[in-house]
Amino acid sequence: MRVLVVEDTAALAAQLREALAEAGFAVDHAADGEEAQFLGETEPYDAVVLDLGLPKLDGLSVLRRWRAGGQRMPVLILTARDSWSEKVAGLDAGADDYLAKPFAMAELVARLRALIRRAHGIASAEIVLGTLRIDTASQSVTQAGAPVKLTALEYGLLAYLAHHPGRPISKSELTEHLYAQDFDRDSNTLEVIVGRLRRKLGDGVIETLRGQGYRLVASPAG
Ligand code: CA
Repeated sequence: MRVLVVEDTAALAAQLREALAEAGFAVDHAADGEEAQFLGETEPYDAVVLDLGLPKLDGLSVLRRWRAGGQRMPVLILTARDSWSEKVAGLDAGADDYLAKPFAMAELVARLRALIRRAHGIASAEIVLGTLRIDTASQSVTQAGAPVKLTALEYGLLAYLAHHPGRPISKSELTEHLYAQDFDRDSNTLEVIVGRLRRKLGDGVIETLRGQGYRLVASPAG
């Protein structure tokens, strides 16, 4: 899952990037409203953390422009403490959730995960597909009851497929959602990651649909 952090205060932006990277997200950062608007219109984010007080273009205007342009990604806004009017204005402008500063990083991460789940119609933090269980809160995976140890990228790829059950996901889509903007992307790496996941999860869990991509199937074959 790839997220955009829009925050002009350098120290808070660094904390957000670190916490979200640790939680398994690929993270891009914008430090002003114009850059944020551009990135939100051109990159396929799974969610956005949007500060409202920003240089060049304020967060509410950024959000309104995204929504007017048809951008539907979940957006969590950061508001000033005790400002109910900011929260109302933000929600009315198309925000999906808010947190007032100062906030606990763990709460922000949990809310973002919940927003992404909801955007995909998933109600529970644990995604169950046949014998495969993916706990998105702890980023842990079991197959037929046995724990499966995954690297961050392996988990990220599996979690992305699990958020789109039944739909084949192309390599280019996976690449766009697994790596941050400044990452040196290589689609061959994806094949390697899928190969390792298949060895760890068993055959039949990740299907290859020729010309379409990869799909997670509910029950392992055989
Ligand atoms: Ca600010």
